[in-house]
Amino acid sequence: MIPAHGYAAFDATSPLAPWSFERRDPGPRDVRIDILVCGICHSDLHTVRGEWGPIAYPQVPGHEIVGRVAAVGGDVRGFREGDLVGVGCMVDSCQACDSCRDGLEQFCEVGFTGTYGGTEKETGRPTQGGYSNTVVVDERFVLRVPDGIEPASVAPLLCAGITTYSPLREWRVGAGQRVGVVGLGGLGHMAVKLARAMGAQVTLFTTSPNKADDARRLGATDVVVSRDEAQMRAAAKSLDLILDTVSAPHDLGPELNALRRDGTLVLLGGSPEPHVVPAVWPFITGRRRLAGSLIGGIRETQEMLDFCAAHGFGADVEVIPVARIEEGYARMLKGDVKYRFVIDMASLAA
Ligand code: NAP
Ligand code: ZN
Repeated sequence: MIPAHGYAAFDATSPLAPWSFERRDPGPRDVRIDILVCGICHSDLHTVRGEWGPIAYPQVPGHEIVGRVAAVGGDVRGFREGDLVGVGCMVDSCQACDSCRDGLEQFCEVGFTGTYGGTEKETGRPTQGGYSNTVVVDERFVLRVPDGIEPASVAPLLCAGITTYSPLREWRVGAGQRVGVVGLGGLGHMAVKLARAMGAQVTLFTTSPNKADDARRLGATDVVVSRDEAQMRAAAKSLDLILDTVSAPHDLGPELNALRRDGTLVLLGGSPEPHVVPAVWPFITGRRRLAGSLIGGIRETQEMLDFCAAHGFGADVEVIPVARIEEGYARMLKGDVKYRFVIDMASLAA
């Protein structure tokens, strides 16, 4: 076993605290990675606080990992010691079902193994995430980090980036289309950048009027304050696709009304409580659709990283030491993050 240390949740309410644990010995197909940085996703907070159901503690969160390859197993072909690599939300899947064969491991019919909170097939133990110094991952779930973007700005792409890129591709967003993004947080700010880079016109819906200037800088053409009914009415029937990244329950009616005929509202946020879904009229009268999307497959994640590198952007981040995770969580809950906290793992040793 390989000694590891990181920050773990020990129950649903206490602050995360230092924890020493063990990683499995690397097998022939495994890559051992020294972690440089790890993003803080709102899913980390939902999970460790038990908002998505009970979990096993201690739990090290973190699924936006960038690091350097420290060692590779004898059968590893794609990576060498010293390579800059990423790991996102998945570390394993069955590799045999239709979804896995289609490169959609996130929909593995047996269930993918989460980077944290899953069960490691090799050992039967809970997987532990990236708020830690090292991790051992099957090379099939390791991504190549392209040159030209800072590691800290790459890390959020491994979840926030792919979660927004995948539906933009699935709904074939391109020039001339009008895309709405609801919520300007980690996912939302990537959705704005990516949709703009694909050529769409972007409208941001926000509860925070003070984010309007930033939203335009990130690529939004229009900004709508979603709690202002008059602004919402003015946006009616204007958009082809809306990505809703909000982490809490809210009324979907005004968003559905903002769709044009045949438009689709895609739910990305993992609200622990149900949203308010209106009666049938916005669906019937405009043939509108309500959909959802989950991260993205490994092949598409690599495509997204290469797309971001080709367009010369990563995430907008605030880098913090591990000791400030709780402050990061508290500010994320207030919508006060521009636009992703990323933990500098060098601070673990300090
Ligand atoms: P985040 O950084 O906290 O951003 C969420 C944004 O939603 C906030 O910045 C805020 O934007 C808005 N918001 C928050 N509470 C709200 C409320 N009560 N009403 C209206 N708007 C509100 O979170 P994130 O990391 O981007 O994650 C967003 C959600 O997506 C989380 O639930 C997360 O678990 C989920 N997620 C899903 C997937 C997937 O595969 N589908 C992947 C990753 C994460 P404004 O200030 O602009 O209003
Ligand atoms: Zn995430």
